Amino acid sequence: MSGSGFDRTADSRKSFLQGNDPSDPKGYHMRQSFEELNKQKNLIVMDGPMGTELERRGYNVNDRLWSAKILRDDPAAIRRIHYDYCAAGADILTCASYQASVKGLCEAGCSQARAEELIALSLRLVQEARESWWEEGGRLSGRPLPLAAGDIGPYGAYLSDASEYTGAYRLSRSEYREFHLPRMRILQETGAEIFAVETMPRLDEALVCAELLEEMGADYWISFTFRDESHICEGRPVSEVTAALRDLPHLKAVGVNCTPPEYVRGIVRRLRAGTDLPICVYPNSGEIYDGVTKTWHGVPGAQTFDGMARGWYAEGARLIGGCCRTTPDDIRTIAGWTEEEKASLCRSLPPLD
Ligand SMILES: [Zn+2]
Repeated sequence: MSGSGFDRTADSRKSFLQGNDPSDPKGYHMRQSFEELNKQKNLIVMDGPMGTELERRGYNVNDRLWSAKILRDDPAAIRRIHYDYCAAGADILTCASYQASVKGLCEAGCSQARAEELIALSLRLVQEARESWWEEGGRLSGRPLPLAAGDIGPYGAYLSDASEYTGAYRLSRSEYREFHLPRMRILQETGAEIFAVETMPRLDEALVCAELLEEMGADYWISFTFRDESHICEGRPVSEVTAALRDLPHLKAVGVNCTPPEYVRGIVRRLRAGTDLPICVYPNSGEIYDGVTKTWHGVPGAQTFDGMARGWYAEGARLIGGCCRTTPDDIRTIAGWTEEEKASLCRSLPPLD
């Protein structure tokens, strides 16, 4: 590790410890930026899912609020999972605000103030987890400080009827703005360094989120759900999506998540044909989700997640992580690729089967 990024982080850390920076009254002073991280890494390792990981650890997330229910009832469990992804090698930690919209939380019985508090808490849990990891050896590990990402799930996630996989809803621009802005503001005030506009089935909604974040001057990536190798879930072709995402200075990456992994190589290829932005991929493990019973069926395909992820890297994906049913072990495997392995993947693109 060399370069000013690390030194600056060390300075921030000192200032954090002193806790006397008037520009940072809440004390969340350790900062990372996407640009800084991107300079240091030829592969940015993303984290894995919160909801299905809570489930794997025995928490019942079968609820309209999904992982946001645990945010309310047992925040330490969420902090622990962020910590585990961090220790596994994730360079980006995405907070548990996917399902936690102000509207959704209020309808679940929270006061407006409590809803806002829970959304801020979701990001603080990321900050606390990386802080613990940093203190317990992360600082000396040579790894950069992970980026704290605010999670912006689609309106379909609030509906809680699996419509983030169909896009079967339609709001006006002002309705989308009204739904998304409050959570974005809270997360920005709490210190989100980038926003994950993710699991987006619809282009119109993604563009409204982009408009809001550009207005706020906040970095973000946009990740869509796909119905096949060439169409996002609402049915629009990749080429239309990439064409619409030009000239957005704060957009740092575009990609795919929460999608069957077998589509992903084809998707990466098509995304790369339409954009020069870094491509992010964090698909599901390969099992099938039943949106009605909110359960998973089937076993992962014969190819391992690691094997598939190598194909995505070879195809040009530069941010890789996991979505539903992947685990910290999957993240650890990706983070463990050597520089030689990555270089050889780039040289020998395996055939697309
Ligand atoms: Zn998912």
